[in-house]
Amino acid sequence: MSTEKQKVVLASGNKGKLNELQQMLDGLNFEVLPQSDFNVSSVPETGLTFVENALIKARHASKVTGLPAISDDSGLEVDALNGQPGIYSARYAGEDADDADNNAKLLEALKDVPSEQRTARFHSVLVYMRHESDPTPLICHGSWEGSILTEAAGVGGFGYDPLFWVPEKGCASAELTKEQKNAISHRAKAKDQLLVQLKALLDV
Ligand code: IMP
Repeated sequence: MSTEKQKVVLASGNKGKLNELQQMLDGLNFEVLPQSDFNVSSVPETGLTFVENALIKARHASKVTGLPAISDDSGLEVDALNGQPGIYSARYAGEDADDADNNAKLLEALKDVPSEQRTARFHSVLVYMRHESDPTPLICHGSWEGSILTEAAGVGGFGYDPLFWVPEKGCASAELTKEQKNAISHRAKAKDQLLVQLKALLDV
């Protein structure tokens, strides 16, 4: 019997995500490879939901490599802004916006919103496609509930972490250690789901 690992391409250039996924999938005999190993170009994220964008990225990576693919898409949904910035989280303040620009725009948009109406959540979608025409891809969701602070706190994390209040820890997300965040975040929850679904799919 062959013990060769099943190669899976990760539709992302992010090294941190690659290591985390590889660790998680070790027990399932998967080898996760970055799409850069195959010169997969980035694809326009033209979907209107996290799910659509994750599917677009996974389908593209699978098509180019001929391998199963995993992709993710995530962002921040603010209730008082009808779910914005949502899929536009990375480019909320414009195509070339950085985290500081996005956070400043968010604070401005919420400047007249009282604290009890500043509820928000991070949302993460992880997708697994067996091949580019897979009609039943695995789609896993994870959310992390919190609210938006009136000023930044903490220096850890990235993106909106300095503005995201985590009620269960009593601090901003940027004040958590990496380990604390990785245990409770939206991405952690989506990953737990993916592991459950992959195990069921592979019957292990
Ligand atoms: P991506 O899907 O990981 O590329 O994330 C999209 C955007 O959503 C990021 O650029 C951030 O602005 C925001 N975002 C997603 N996850 C987080 C998080 O864990 N902390 C802070 N911001 C996040």
